[in-house]
Amino acid sequence: MKKIKLPDKVKKLINTFQQAGFEIYLVGGSARGLITGHKIADWDFATNASPEEMLKLFPKNSFYHNQFGTVSIVMGPKKDDVLEVTTYRTERGYSDRRRPDKVTWGKTVEEDLSRRDFTINAIAIKLKTQNSKLKIETIIDPFEGQKDLKKKVIRAVGDPNKRFQEDALRLLRAVRIATQLGFVIEPKTFTSIQKNAFLIQEIAWERIRDELLKLLASRHPADGILLLYNSGLLKYILPELLEARGVAQAKHHIYDVWTHLIESLRYCPSKDPIVRLATLLHDIGKPATAKGEGEERTFYNHEVVGAIMVKKIGRRLRLSNRQLDRLWRLVRWHQFTPNENQTDKAIRRFIRRVGQENLQDILDVRVGDRLGSGVPRTSWRLELFKKRLAEVQKQPFSVKDLKVNGHDVMTILKIKPGPMVGKILQALFEEVEDNKEKNQRQYLLSRIPEIYQQLNPHNHRRQRAAIECQTTKRGVAVKVEE
Ligand code: ATP
Ligand code: MG
Repeated sequence: MKKIKLPDKVKKLINTFQQAGFEIYLVGGSARGLITGHKIADWDFATNASPEEMLKLFPKNSFYHNQFGTVSIVMGPKKDDVLEVTTYRTERGYSDRRRPDKVTWGKTVEEDLSRRDFTINAIAIKLKTQNSKLKIETIIDPFEGQKDLKKKVIRAVGDPNKRFQEDALRLLRAVRIATQLGFVIEPKTFTSIQKNAFLIQEIAWERIRDELLKLLASRHPADGILLLYNSGLLKYILPELLEARGVAQAKHHIYDVWTHLIESLRYCPSKDPIVRLATLLHDIGKPATAKGEGEERTFYNHEVVGAIMVKKIGRRLRLSNRQLDRLWRLVRWHQFTPNENQTDKAIRRFIRRVGQENLQDILDVRVGDRLGSGVPRTSWRLELFKKRLAEVQKQPFSVKDLKVNGHDVMTILKIKPGPMVGKILQALFEEVEDNKEKNQRQYLLSRIPEIYQQLNPHNHRRQRAAIECQTTKRGVAVKVEE
C-alpha cells in the first residue's frame, strides 16, 4: 500500500462521523486510488447514517438533492471541497435498466458493496485516527477486488448478465474504466458486454456523453475506441464511424479511412476531449463522398459533408453549444492548405473561420491527421504556415487596431452610440484589411462621412427595396456572402 496524504477536509469529515458513532468508509475510485497510490480526484464515501442523520450532523453545510441517499457536505469554499456521502443501499429491481425501482437503505457495508458494478469498485476502506493521523484500519473486499486491481482486470460483481441488465450504463462504464486504468476486461464480463451491448440504447445520451468524453480524455483514447468497437457498443454510440471501415483511400494512403481515424486519434497531441473527438471524426464525411477507385479515388467536399455530420452527432451526444461549435469548426476547416503563397488576407480569413482561440486545436488535429497517415509530424510548409499565423495575428487584425475609434465616428457624424458606429468601423476595417497602408488616422477620418453616405439607413432601405423588387420579378433568391 502506497502512502497518500489525505486532505484536511477528508480527515475532518471522517472524524465527525466517527465521533458521532457512525460508520464511514472510503469507496469507489478513492478506495482504489488509496490502494494503488494513484491520485484521487473524486472522494466517495459510504455510511450507515441515514440522509436525515447526516443533515443533522452537518446542519449548516450539507444538502440532500436526490432520493438515492447521497448527501453533499460542503467542507470548504472550492468546488471540490464538496464531499459526497451515500447511505448504504441495497437495490432491488431495475425495470428501466437505469434507476433502481426502489432504493432501500442497507444495514451493512458488505450489502452496499454487493450492489456496486465491478470488483475493483467494490472495496471499502475504514480509516481510524491514530496520533492525530488517519491510518487504514480495515479493508473490506468481499469480491477480491484487490486481486483484480493487481491483475489489472475489470470483472463484474456477481453474474455479469444480471448486472448489465439491471443497469446498462455499466456496459460503457466497464470500457471507460478499463481505458482510463489501462486494464483488461475479464473474458466472461467482456462476452456479457457483447451480448448485452444493445441495451445501451435505453440509456440517456447525456450519460453516454459523459462516459465517452471521459474515455476520450484518458491516456489511451484510441485503444478505448477500439475496445468500444470490439465490445459491440460503438455501433450504438457512433454508428457513422463504422461506415469508414474498409473504405480505401488513394494508394499513397497506407490505411483505410477507419484505421486512419483511429490512428489520428492515437497521435493527436491535444488532451482536450472535444479536439480528440474532432480528430476521430475529421474524415467522417469520406465514406459518403468517395468516388473512383485506386489512384483515382477522391473525396471532394468530405469536410463539408463531415461538418454537417458532426453537427448531428454532437447534437445527439447533447454537447453544449460551445462544444458543438468547436467540433464543427475543427472538422469543417481541417483541410486547410499551408500554402506558402497565401496572402495575409487569406490567412486572416482562415483565422476568422477557425476562431483565434481554436488555432492550436486545429494544428493538433493536423498533427494527428499526419501521424495517423504515417507521414512525419510536420513539414517545412506547415512550420512556415504557423509562423505566418503568428505574424498575421500581430498585424492590425480587429477593429480595435484601427487608428480611429467609435468616438471619432460619433463626433464627426454627430450621431449617438448604436449599430451604425460598428458598421462604419467594420467597413473601414475591411478597407484596411485589403491594404494595411490605409491605416492612417487622417485618411480614415476623411472616409467616415463617405462611408456613412453609403451605409445611411435611408439609402440602404432604398437599395434593398430595389434589389428585392428585381429578385421577385426574376424569381431568384439573393445569395448573401458571408
Ligand atoms: P472516478 O474516479 O471516475 O470517480 P469511480 O469508480 O469513483 O471513478 P463514480 O462514478 O464516482 O466512479 O462512482 C463511484 C462508485 O459508485 C463506483 O466506484 C461504483 O462502486 C459505484 N457505481 C457508480 N456507478 C455505478 C453503477 N452504474 N452501478 C453500480 N455501481 C456504480
Ligand atoms: Mg468517484
